Amino acid sequence: MSSPSADLAVVGGGQLARMMQQAAVGLGIHIRLLAEGPDVSAAQVIPDHRVGDHTSLDDLRDLAAGVPVITFDHEHVPPEHLRALEAEGHACRPGPHALLFAQDKGAMRARLDELGVPCPRHASVSSLADLEAFGFPAVVKTTRGGYDGKGVWFVHSAADAEEALSSDRELIAEELVDFRRELSALVARRPSGDTVAWPVVESRQVDGVCKEVVAPAPDLDDHLAQEAEAIARTIASALDVTGVLAVELFETSDGRLLVNELAMRPHNTGHWTIDGAATSQFENHLRAVLDRPLGPAGPRAPWSVMVNILGGSVDDLEAQLSVVLDAVADIRVHLYGKSVKAGRKVGHVTAVGDDLDDAQARARRAADLFEKGTTHE
Ligand code: ADP
Repeated sequence: MSSPSADLAVVGGGQLARMMQQAAVGLGIHIRLLAEGPDVSAAQVIPDHRVGDHTSLDDLRDLAAGVPVITFDHEHVPPEHLRALEAEGHACRPGPHALLFAQDKGAMRARLDELGVPCPRHASVSSLADLEAFGFPAVVKTTRGGYDGKGVWFVHSAADAEEALSSDRELIAEELVDFRRELSALVARRPSGDTVAWPVVESRQVDGVCKEVVAPAPDLDDHLAQEAEAIARTIASALDVTGVLAVELFETSDGRLLVNELAMRPHNTGHWTIDGAATSQFENHLRAVLDRPLGPAGPRAPWSVMVNILGGSVDDLEAQLSVVLDAVADIRVHLYGKSVKAGRKVGHVTAVGDDLDDAQARARRAADLFEKGTTHE
């Protein structure tokens, strides 16, 4: 089904687009989707979808025909296609000039250096000699196309560097940061510049994949929280980001902040906002890209804990739902309609409340039940 009256075109049919639709329903916003296949996560819930390839300009043009604004579920649309769509009168939000810095870690580091935003020491590397000159240990990353820890190598010696250097990709080396924890600062920005910031959160990774997010970040020094928010606002404004920007940060063991990476779309570290904030990141993303007034981003409860459901031994999540709801009544469940594969993000749960330990226990228990069918206890 398609309609000439779509308000917004969304490229990419993953769970982020699916959760944008959830917000769009309430706002009466009509989304038209470009999906990778007929049954992908967002295509299941967005009637006006078409199947196509985000690297094909023809498919993008077909999606955008008659639609004023285009936004994204991921950052992989080639910038030259976005420039072509802009030249044809569509507003890409974020635009290619901003998206570049979420697509290319080398460009991102160079721009953040110019802005004076604190980053890990880094250098572009293409040979063992470069890497030896940079020094070990180092974290070597492909500048483009990495996600969830793929395209990231922890290199302690020349012997460790072989796989990274043989990847035939453009690489950047970073100092191995001694960090206390990872934080994320999330903002939404309208084309006019109006920006709101959610509380800074702590994100906990397992094997390079985000597993748990606690909002706000427990015991975060006020000054660091303000600095993290200021960094996110500076980047959003200097790079002219429209929509949601997530800035992933390290809090170092000696109490400094360093930017790890940027995402210019709703982000896993903001999923808690659906149930825990006055306005969710998905709603504010839609409002921002459509240039409507933004909603407040404050918390609705003292604590929110979001735990990802990663593919485990339970195959039928929908069938498992009753078990989970029986065991953990006060929990919010978000399933993505994806088939279960080991380690794949297939949903998340969020618990909110006055007591952090209690919210964390509920969220972990529910996620465990979805993953393993049983809990740790
Ligand atoms: P991706 O694009 O795959 O998410 P990241 O750059 O975020 O890659 O790296 C994945 C994880 O690797 C991070 O969440 C962090 O735990 C770790 N990491 C990345 N860069 C560094 C660094 N410079 N020092 C220490 N750990 C790092």
